[in-house]
Amino acid sequence: MISEFAVKSAKRVELIDVTKQVQSAVAKSKVMEGLCIVYCPHTTAAITINENADPAVQTDIIEKLNELVPPDAGYSHTEGNADAHIKAAVIGNCRVVLVRGGKLLLGAWEGIFFCEFDGPRERRLLVLVK
Ligand code: ZN
Repeated sequence: MISEFAVKSAKRVELIDVTKQVQSAVAKSKVMEGLCIVYCPHTTAAITINENADPAVQTDIIEKLNELVPPDAGYSHTEGNADAHIKAAVIGNCRVVLVRGGKLLLGAWEGIFFCEFDGPRERRLLVLVK
């Protein structure tokens, strides 16, 4: 079963915790044991799983990505969002999480993040639970 969610970003680059939405898709699917695929259908956004306890981790990820792939570095793609495409390619547009007991089998400190690299705007998040 595929669920779709709207994700609204407020900044150009931002990590948005979508763990609750993904868990709600798992609950709705009634799948007790299986796979949950979290997919971002955008070329300038991505999905990652990382620590959701200390927000400083998200800040560090964003700052380091901006340092490695600066917004303005003479790119060939002149739409003004070349860095966002590169960041999305580096992080990846999809993650798979195991499901057990009808719940996401995440580690104690893990959360699922929608990574906005060319916001603010409204995005789509797709979740398949099997
Ligand atoms: Zn572009």
